[in-house]
Amino acid sequence: MKNYRERSLLDFQKDFATEDACAEHLKEMRWTRGFVCPACRHDKAWYIKTRKVFDCQRCRIRTSLIAGTIFHKTRTPLLKWYWILYHMAMDIQTGRCRSYFNLWNKRNRPNRIKYPIRA
Ligand SMILES: [Zn+2]
Repeated sequence: MKNYRERSLLDFQKDFATEDACAEHLKEMRWTRGFVCPACRHDKAWYIKTRKVFDCQRCRIRTSLIAGTIFHKTRTPLLKWYWILYHMAMDIQTGRCRSYFNLWNKRNRPNRIKYPIRA
């Protein structure tokens, strides 16, 4: 598994150029020691790439790659999510994240909340 490292935009483009690359990265992050079936703890599974699910070779339970992650039930491709998260991370690093909080405050703040979130 690759360790976390800061990536330039060019590194990011190279490392996460495809949906499969993003799925592989998520798999490595989720199961750092390899896949483990949540039902029977078996460590062998077939990966069904088109559906992003693992089919346990012992009990045949299918486990979604994105289930239980921040991408749970999303229909948006991981490639798009990775790009969004990368840009958000860059904005946080450069101090531009304030705009996200301000936007959230303006759109979602119920009137009864007197103190908006401050970045
Ligand atoms: Zn199993």
